Amino acid sequence: MPELPEVETIRRELEPLIRGKKFAPPLMHMPSTVAYPDPEGFAAGLAGRTVKNIVRRGKYLIINLDRGILVVHLRMTGNLLYAEGALPDKERFLRLSFPFTDGSILYFSDMRRFGRVWLVAGSDELQNIVLRRIGPDIFNEMDRKQFIELLKKRERGRIKALLLDQGFAAGMGNIYTDECLFRSGLHPRRQASTLSRVEAENLYEAIRVVLAEGIEYGGTTFRDYRNARGALGDFQSRLAVYGRKGERCHCGSVIEKTAVAGRGTYYCPNCQTECKEPEEET
Ligand SMILES: [Zn+2]
Repeated sequence: MPELPEVETIRRELEPLIRGKKFAPPLMHMPSTVAYPDPEGFAAGLAGRTVKNIVRRGKYLIINLDRGILVVHLRMTGNLLYAEGALPDKERFLRLSFPFTDGSILYFSDMRRFGRVWLVAGSDELQNIVLRRIGPDIFNEMDRKQFIELLKKRERGRIKALLLDQGFAAGMGNIYTDECLFRSGLHPRRQASTLSRVEAENLYEAIRVVLAEGIEYGGTTFRDYRNARGALGDFQSRLAVYGRKGERCHCGSVIEKTAVAGRGTYYCPNCQTECKEPEEET
């Protein structure tokens, strides 16, 4: 599933390619991909609009237009791709195509069909219809103080479940959460409320570093992710625990896989201890 670094990679690549371009009428190969408004209203509303810029909140790509906002969420297997000319013949999972008036084209391909697009009138609708339950972006909109304060407010719940909760903070998914917990030495089953101040600070720093590296390496391609030009990410070669069950951690222990918050979870039983002794708490 594309997470914050993958969506940010797409944003950075796509923005200079489509800024200033005007949408022609879109082609709806699978109209149910449109979450809002109805497919006819979506097509009519998008045709003739010009791209101003692209921003991101968590895993949402927010394409600001001269009138209205186009929003894309890739969910599990979605890819938003750009082509100068015709659509490639090999694209088996094409759901929507967005041709521009200059002949170039943006298209949405999605094997599992969970990805969605919205066309809203402005920032109020963006907030009320699309982002109602979505917290601040964990990379761009949350400083260390806010993170620690929000963490302290949570009375129950495992730290992994909390980081995956997009209402707490937007952007983290399964891969980067496992990597961040490993780098901060926290067991994924730890109750979030038992983190000391130092542990919470270390976790915040690990999140900043891991997400920045993920972006620097163009995201992680585990199965389906491709950037806007169809290229694979490179961060998978840097993963310390995710997808490495049975391999050795740098400490020599064997990486294990378990289930936490209903998700496959990779961790090192030596580097990530379940419970801290009371004297280590501050
Ligand atoms: Zn280890």
